[in-house]
Order: sequence, then structure tokens, then C-alpha cells
Amino acid sequence: MIVVKVGGSAGIDYDAVCADLARRWKAGEKLILVHGGSGETNRVAEALGHPPRFVTSPSGYTSRFTDRQTLEIFEMVYCGKMNKGIVERLQRLGVNAVGLSGLDGRIFEGRHKDSVRIVENGKTKVLRGDHTGTVEKVNTGLIDLLLGAGYLPVLTPPASSYEGVAINVDGDRAAAALAVALNADALLLLSNVPGLLRAYPDESSLIREIPATDVEAYLEFAQDRMKKKVLGAAEAVQGGVKRVIFGDARAGEPISAALGGAGTVVS
Ligand code: ADP
Repeated sequence: MIVVKVGGSAGIDYDAVCADLARRWKAGEKLILVHGGSGETNRVAEALGHPPRFVTSPSGYTSRFTDRQTLEIFEMVYCGKMNKGIVERLQRLGVNAVGLSGLDGRIFEGRHKDSVRIVENGKTKVLRGDHTGTVEKVNTGLIDLLLGAGYLPVLTPPASSYEGVAINVDGDRAAAALAVALNADALLLLSNVPGLLRAYPDESSLIREIPATDVEAYLEFAQDRMKKKVLGAAEAVQGGVKRVIFGDARAGEPISAALGGAGTVVS
């Protein structure tokens, strides 16, 4: 089993990802796709007059502050436009894809964090009314059912809290939890960069290999949202996934290239 996570940043070529995925699926490989949608969510949120608010935690992690209205916009884009756009591409390529969020069948479940500690202008504050959380549990029943019946699952945040409330969760870490739950051979985290760069944004500074025992040491090279990918990679390899690859989804055959060793390989 290979879990492919494709991000939501500008420059990602979804046609290329879907074409590569379809070819491999038709050749008999077991795959699951998880996707993001942050770039498009920012555009739609601006257009709807509710611009995104990104906050930074005291430990330096950046996340989207998700009040109820933001959550609804997030769902429109992730579960609507992005998810159905990918499912349509795959259907056109002859793959019977089924798009679901983590809420559906409680595929992704976790704790709801209603308040978040942030640092703003050097001061620590608490913001309430946040609909975020972290995936702590993956319920694979529905996925097994779909895979067993020949469907390709296309999954996206949000997740469900233990109380059944929608929560915005990080897609990379959700994909990592899924890869662990399915005992996947590989987790691909595809984005709009060649991999983890030692001196971002210098693309010639690509880190080619990271030993599985030492992933956290590489957090220092990752800024803002890239940190979640490194954290997800650490969680995946600690959970028994043999290989995690940070790969480029901007062109070519992104899945085959990553599996062939392009990008940053954690093993
Ligand atoms: P996606 O939504 O595609 O999953 P993110 O935007 O969450 O991707 O994270 C990828 C982004 O992280 C890159 O576009 C880049 O701007 C940023 N980044 C920060 N530090 C690094 C680094 N060391 N190497 C590569 N990318 C980095």
C-alpha cells in the first residue's frame, strides 16, 4: 500500500499527479490519495470577505485559525472544489475514485482543540472558538470496504472530533496516521518544492536522504508549514512505515519520480 498526499499550494499539477496515479492503479498497485487545498481556500476566503488568519504557536508552528465560518469555507473548498476536481480527473482517466472527508465514516478522528495559544507582536495570547485538532485515530473500516470493492479512496480534512464535530487537521499528519494504520510501504508527501531544502528557497540545496532514526533533527531546516511535513514523516517512520518521501508535484510523473528516489527520502 502506498499513501500519496498531495498538497494545496500554488504550482501543483493535479493533472500530472492523477495521470501517474491512474497508470499505477491500473497496473494493480494499491494506492490511496490524500489532498490539501490551502491555496484555493485562501483565495475563496478572501473573495467571501472572510480572509484567512494564520497564527503562530509559542513553539513556532503556523496554523490556520478556524472559526466556524472559516471551517465552512474550508469544507466548501477541500471537500467540494478540490475533492470533486480530483475525483473527476480520476474518473475521466477510468479510475473509480470515491472522494470522502475524514468526517465521513469518522475515517480521521481526534481531539477538538477549542482554544489555541498564539504569539502575536511578541505577546502570548489565547484565542477561543477554534475548530482544529490532531488526528489521533484512523478508522479504516470504510477504507477497507472501498479498497476491497475496487474503489480508489480520495481523502481530505476535516476530521471528526470524538464528539462528532468537524475539526481542521493537518493533512500531512493525517496522511502519516493513515499510512501507519494501513501499514503502508511508503508515504509520499508531494508539494511545490523538490523536497526538504537545506537552504530554502534554494532548490539546489535539496536534502537527499534522512535517516529514519534522526528525522526530528531536520526540523531546523523546515520553516512554517514544512515543519508539519517533517513531523508527519517522523510519526510515520516511528509507526512502522518503511519510507517517507518529500517529492515534487509540479510536473512530470510525481509519484513515480518520488518512488524512484527523487526528492528527500526518509528511511
Ligand atoms: P502543501 O500545501 O503543498 O502540502 P505547504 O505549503 O504546507 O505544502 O508546505 C510546503 C511549503 O513549505 C513550500 O512551498 C515552501 O514554501 C515551504 N518551506 C519552508 N521551509 C522549507 C524547506 N526547508 N524546504 C522546502 N520547503 C520549505
